[in-house]
Amino acid sequence: MKKLTAFILIISLLQSLCACGAPASETSAPAETRVSEATPEPAPEASPGEEPGAAAESDPPAEEAEETEPDAGTDAEAAPAETHTKYFTICFDDGITQDLKIMEIFRKYGFSSCTFFINTGLCGANWYWVGGMFDRPDVTHIRFTRKELESGVYDGFDVAVHTLTHPSLKSYDSRRWVIRDEVENDAENIYRITGVFPVGMAWPCSDNDVTETTKKIVYEDTSIRFARGITATHSFALPEEFLMWEPTCSIVDDDLMAYAQSFIETECTEDMLFFVWGHGYELDVHDAYGRLEELIKMMTEADDIVCVTTTEFYQLFKDQIPSLK
Ligand SMILES: [Zn+2]
Repeated sequence: MKKLTAFILIISLLQSLCACGAPASETSAPAETRVSEATPEPAPEASPGEEPGAAAESDPPAEEAEETEPDAGTDAEAAPAETHTKYFTICFDDGITQDLKIMEIFRKYGFSSCTFFINTGLCGANWYWVGGMFDRPDVTHIRFTRKELESGVYDGFDVAVHTLTHPSLKSYDSRRWVIRDEVENDAENIYRITGVFPVGMAWPCSDNDVTETTKKIVYEDTSIRFARGITATHSFALPEEFLMWEPTCSIVDDDLMAYAQSFIETECTEDMLFFVWGHGYELDVHDAYGRLEELIKMMTEADDIVCVTTTEFYQLFKDQIPSLK
């Protein structure tokens, strides 16, 4: 597994390939600047580029160079080969107590590339009825208390917004201040708890038909720049817009392990993303902790797969993929 070291190396490589020279967070857009000021800087300064071809110019005598055919292919040969990367990320919603068991599995494999989307206005809430929806009244849905969050239960992992109280945000398109408060106040609470201001969200309430108005309000009135949906793409394609970022599949998708195997075997001819999402209680309902462990083992043992959090992936691609189309 390459993890953060590979993540930093890739940023450096991308920077030097793009010859942009600027840290990933530098941008002229005011909104982006506001976000980057509050987020940790993921990319080191690009090292000064070496002068390509400086040594080669002194090699052949001038006469010899004149006798040769115009070297049309020289530039192409000197250009660095385009590289592509396979990225894997996973996330869990709601901030519930099953996340402890999930993190235990992650830590066993040295894996920290998970984002937990939490509702800081529902700390300690017991949604006892959730298990009953699956004829499993024994399955709990209990959110961490504020005290537990502040004690660092998610230390070492990425924490991001799922709104304060988990409403369907599209219901508030005509009352944008509700959307603003639900999103931004959750982000501010997370900042107080973790010390990192989140730029990401998972749409609450299984909102897979969020309106363009809702997305625009989130973009204009909050610091959020990416938001995950719940509609499985069943593909490894990169998202087209970050504020409706659909995952590859759910952790309890029947074909999850087939996708994992396919991701490992597919030749990487373009950047690819295997994006898995879920809830901790689903692992109880489907007795799926074993498959989670198998998935993490496969992803961390593959030499050519780079594990990143959703926030890290956003930082890597924010200059290429728009938040809003
Ligand atoms: Zn949720």
